[in-house]
Amino acid sequence: MSNAETWTVRRILDWTIDYLKQNGSESPRLDAEVLLAHARGCQRIQLYTQYNEPLTEQQRSVMRGLVKRRATAEPVAYLVGHREFFSLDFIVNAHVLIPRPDTEILVINALDACKGIEAPQIVDLCTGSGCVAIALAKNHLKAKITAVDISPEACEVASQNIKKHQVEERVRLLTGDMFSPLPKNVRFDLIVSNPPYIPNAEVSELQADVQKHEPHLALAGGEDGLDFVRKLINDSPIHLNSGGWLMFEISPEQAMVCSELLKAAGYVDVSIKNDLSGQARVVCGKVKP
Ligand code: GLN
Repeated sequence: MSNAETWTVRRILDWTIDYLKQNGSESPRLDAEVLLAHARGCQRIQLYTQYNEPLTEQQRSVMRGLVKRRATAEPVAYLVGHREFFSLDFIVNAHVLIPRPDTEILVINALDACKGIEAPQIVDLCTGSGCVAIALAKNHLKAKITAVDISPEACEVASQNIKKHQVEERVRLLTGDMFSPLPKNVRFDLIVSNPPYIPNAEVSELQADVQKHEPHLALAGGEDGLDFVRKLINDSPIHLNSGGWLMFEISPEQAMVCSELLKAAGYVDVSIKNDLSGQARVVCGKVKP
């Protein structure tokens, strides 16, 4: 084979970028680089110093499989098996929602609400991969977190992440529906949640990556998307200390309605927080002290 035909890092990147662009990826270069780094077992940054190196037959075959799957809108995070969130690396698979940067503001606000509490007791409902619970534990070394998810498969992923980040002592995992597995007669300082909040009819209209591959159980929130939000608002007070906080993620157009629901239910200091791209993303309310 002449040089021009050798599948070097550069050539396979160029080819993949072009192919993914034609097959609907919105970030073809990033996708190609992440997949190739995974196929070669190296860091993405190292590709830049390896541009002229040829791929082994084995690497080419792994890469072919990954690119084929990416071209059917399978998310890169599922293909490589992990995703960064709050500067931590999380294991993911198709049983859990892929952690999104939008959700980092939930962690930031929760950490803020914990200021002044020596050892905050926190509940994370609909934990999925466990990214919110674990990011809290890693950033507040005295926080104790109870993470809950209805899906045993999601709990398996969360459990792997809890071990990976060595927070087994402070993050307890319970399988069950929302509040149902929580201990009775125990009150918490804070309840956080990124619940499913997409109106059922809109799930089929989501971007192909999300709609075809992410778990609908983690997305569909009932007719108006607010079934889980209403449950959070109604049931949190009996699980919170006086002055305890409820905060949850929503989509920007639901923010006003959710803050009204919180006020109507008697929460005080209700506020809406924007995510890092400036969209209303988290709603917070406090149980009357
Ligand atoms: N933000 C997610 C999306 O747009 C939805 C997350 C959720 O329902 N909790 O796909």
